[in-house]
Amino acid sequence: MKTLKCDLCEVATQGETFEEWMEALRPHYNEAHADVMSDSSRGKKEMEQWIADNKARFDAA
Ligand SMILES: [Zn+2]
Repeated sequence: MKTLKCDLCEVATQGETFEEWMEALRPHYNEAHADVMSDSSRGKKEMEQWIADNKARFDAA
């Protein structure tokens, strides 16, 4: 089990795998960073980059 902070604030979520961590982070994102979630300028490429960056952070944790 790894604990990793949100990339936008200090809230930490846990997950056994990166996918679990993302699932655990989703409700927090919806609540605390809804503006980011609804930002339509964040396209598929940005989302893929976000996943790649956070996967690297998760693997390094
Ligand atoms: Zn956050």
